[in-house]
Amino acid sequence: MKIAEIHIYSHNLPVRNGPYTMARAQVWSLDTTLVKLVADNGLIGWGETCPVGPTYAEAHATGARAALALMAPDLIGAELLPVTLHRHMDSLLNGHNYAKAAIDIAVHDLLGKRYGVSVSNLLGGAVTDRVPSYYATGVGAPDDIARLAAEKLAEGYPRLQIKVGGRPVEIDIETIHKVWEVVRGSGMRLAVDGNRGWTTRDALRVSRECLDIPFVMEQPCNTTEDLQKIRPQVSHPIYMDESSTSLNTVITAAGTGLVDGFGMKVTRIGGLHPMRAFRDLCEARNLPHTCDDSWGGDIIAAACTHIGATVRPDLCEGVWLAAPYIEGHYDLENGIQIEGGHIQVPTGPGLGVVPDESRFGAPVASF
Ligand SMILES: [Mg+2]
Repeated sequence: MKIAEIHIYSHNLPVRNGPYTMARAQVWSLDTTLVKLVADNGLIGWGETCPVGPTYAEAHATGARAALALMAPDLIGAELLPVTLHRHMDSLLNGHNYAKAAIDIAVHDLLGKRYGVSVSNLLGGAVTDRVPSYYATGVGAPDDIARLAAEKLAEGYPRLQIKVGGRPVEIDIETIHKVWEVVRGSGMRLAVDGNRGWTTRDALRVSRECLDIPFVMEQPCNTTEDLQKIRPQVSHPIYMDESSTSLNTVITAAGTGLVDGFGMKVTRIGGLHPMRAFRDLCEARNLPHTCDDSWGGDIIAAACTHIGATVRPDLCEGVWLAAPYIEGHYDLENGIQIEGGHIQVPTGPGLGVVPDESRFGAPVASF
């Protein structure tokens, strides 16, 4: 089975009750990129990549489409095999994992359809039909975030991620304490995500002033060097998110004992094929991790859910989706939803989600 056609679409996803606020960015609407691959046997596969604005990562929406347009002419006629296809993409363009991920996801969708299996089974086998999700609060006033925590606990979320940073650290500390008052004893797990926004000084202070509160400190500071600096001094486990940009950085972080786990994005690492290697590396070191993406609709949500369903359950920190912040679905029947803090794994072949492509308008480029 070979790639016969590649179509690239741009689609706008407004943030419901926007903006969504992180330490270093505020977003009102996201520009997602969809890729439709048509195989030489007529089967269709979909991929998606959606950076959460241009400052969250070294990625932006028009950059994704430029990278895809650069590679696409040389991908026509390529065999739909993940290993050789990734090598082929790397021979055409250095880096730009987040663009390559859209092709990778579409290839997995196509392979699943070709063999009549779900993407999770293609990735080694689902161990559950219902994966845990977690809710990310956005940076907000301590009382508002505590109220949100109570609401998400009642909805059944097993984990809450409190966004912090970009403001006086005293407010972050107050927020963490107020949330803990609400969730203490409930079993709800906590992550505190700085999204690179704290100085090492702030991170050390938070850990000291929240000594008795069990949370994971997710990407508190900007660089790997910052994490190395605070590592011996903090009492809380450290997870790496934004700094884990490739399998190479993951191997170093895991191998040197720099971190206790990861927040991982499918598109940041280059798609489902490298994500599978990441999952296995983490399992070899007993490191928990998430299976997320930064933003996007039903296609990326399905990809994250399928890989999340294959993670050893005690290491699965959850699958975060942008779905609660987005109106509507690409697939009205099988769109990915969070119910009771969990996500049903789609059962259809491939991703199990078939978008209504009329929603996307005409492609911005076709090859
Ligand atoms: Mg994070």
